[in-house]
Amino acid sequence: MKKHNFNAGPAILPQIAIENTAKAVLDFNGIGMSILEISHRSKEFQAVIDEAVALFKEILNIPEGYHVLFLGGGASTQFSMVPFNFLKKKAAYLETGVWAKKAIKEAKLFGEVQIVASSADKNFSYIPKGWTIPSDVDYFHFTSNNTIYGTEIRHDIDSPVPVVCDMSSDFCSRPVDVSKYALIYAGAQKNVGPAGVTVIIIKEEFLNQCQVKDRVIPTMTNYKTHVDEGSMFNTPPVLPIFTVKETLKWLKSIGGLAAIEKMNIEKAQILYDAIDNSKMFVGTVEKDSRSLMNICFVMKEQYKDKEEAFLEFAKTKGLVGLKGHRSVGGFRASTYNALPKESVIALVDAMHEFEKMHA
Ligand SMILES: *Cc1c(COP(=O)(O)O)cnc(C)c1O
Repeated sequence: MKKHNFNAGPAILPQIAIENTAKAVLDFNGIGMSILEISHRSKEFQAVIDEAVALFKEILNIPEGYHVLFLGGGASTQFSMVPFNFLKKKAAYLETGVWAKKAIKEAKLFGEVQIVASSADKNFSYIPKGWTIPSDVDYFHFTSNNTIYGTEIRHDIDSPVPVVCDMSSDFCSRPVDVSKYALIYAGAQKNVGPAGVTVIIIKEEFLNQCQVKDRVIPTMTNYKTHVDEGSMFNTPPVLPIFTVKETLKWLKSIGGLAAIEKMNIEKAQILYDAIDNSKMFVGTVEKDSRSLMNICFVMKEQYKDKEEAFLEFAKTKGLVGLKGHRSVGGFRASTYNALPKESVIALVDAMHEFEKMHA
């Protein structure tokens, strides 16, 4: 049985992207070799990376003056690479979850960190409001979607200083105004590809004007290295980049970001409605902070002992990856781009059926 895949990451990818990757692994473009066994500097692979960059520029409507990079090391490497390159004295961070905290921890290795607001007081179940970004900091950093807690900032932020955003888990799930960002980074494995590659969109002016000058930056840690070499300073993650390209081709074919946003809103609405109308289940996040990508819910107090049973029941229906992160408990349904509406409906049906049996 084909599974309904609610994994949080690595996560579901479009079937066509997986099939085309499988083909390229066996025989790439009919050249009689696998994509795994050709040079990253071959013209065949150069065409892959060029197409991936072009697709990002088209789909995200990236303005002139920005570079798209493909680096290894995961989004977690960006937590330190950003401050290593750009934190001279002080940076501002929004603390909305585990990933934000990890980014803050690394930034503190390089300078002062001002937390503009935090939702730690309520286990990161909401997006803080009413905060301002100071104008005396080198940059402002935030996490657009909090994968573990299921909260999301679904709008671009106006800022007096350059904005850096960890977009790992809602990257390419909705239109964004790239011109509002100095640097965007995203581990591919949540929404645009497999694990192994991190996508970086960096503004050239930010790199030229704001990079630290009085600190030695190791070559591989320096964004300039990768901008100058077009992500080819060393061997980039070739196969993940290929799958990212195939995923973007799929995204373009279904209508791009405006179309996928509509579908993501619809999917999330179906599930949030079911949660809100349930006798058994309850959401864990304040309504106006809800994520469209990671939908977190638990069982109401009187049914708490049924959580394990529901996960087992869901499995019998082919619904997998629903166990909540240990810091929230209960359930988390990740409804990334490639998850079809049918999977959400299957989950809602299972919730109703389970409720009839137990509530
Ligand atoms: C998964 C995730 C990360 C970590 O990504 P890695 O590629 O595993 O380092 C960072 N930030 C967010 C928002 C994530 O969802």
